[in-house]
Amino acid sequence: MTGRVRSVLALGSNLGDSHGTLSLAVADLVDNPRVRLREVSPVVRSTAVGGPEQPDYLNMVIEVETDLGPYEFLAHCQAVENLHHRTRDVRWGPRTLDVDIITYGDQTSDDEVLTLPHPRAAERAFVLQPWAWMDSTARLGGRLVTELVGSTADLAGIRPYEGADTPWAP
Ligand code: ATP
Ligand code: MG
Ligand code: MG
Repeated sequence: MTGRVRSVLALGSNLGDSHGTLSLAVADLVDNPRVRLREVSPVVRSTAVGGPEQPDYLNMVIEVETDLGPYEFLAHCQAVENLHHRTRDVRWGPRTLDVDIITYGDQTSDDEVLTLPHPRAAERAFVLQPWAWMDSTARLGGRLVTELVGSTADLAGIRPYEGADTPWAP
């Protein structure tokens, strides 16, 4: 790979076999010679915030390295969502799979098609907590993720996933 960039992705699911979907989605995301897995967070269970009443989510974060450009990489992430039958009926409604690009290198962008860093990541414990557990040195917008997570409103709704250890590893 030339021109590699590190990118942090947040995955979430609250429809169907969410744990199975997350583990398949990690494999699908890196089933591409231009994307390499670097790190995987623990899976967390999260009370849903910011949408209709809906089931708990399972959430996790991964770090990959890619030489896909930012929009090609977004298309790749959306193709993996589609593989898992993602639909968009209600904003922030229940979904089989969400894959959000939290950071793509140090790039910043205000484009609504791809906003970087992800504009709501800094206020979401379901992103920041697994990320902090994966990488205690991670920073978002210059601030330590381990510190940002302490001021999130949804932190009390996050707990470790009670199932088996994540079976995949970089
Ligand atoms: P949220 O963005 O608040 O987490 P969501 O994940 O439910 O909401 P989606 O329906 O998955 O939203 O995505 C809506 C649009 O957001 C996508 O079509 C995509 O173009 C755009 N988008 C903008 N920035 C990003 C990003 N950093 N990662 C993923 N999608 C993004
Ligand atoms: Mg999202
Ligand atoms: Mg999304």
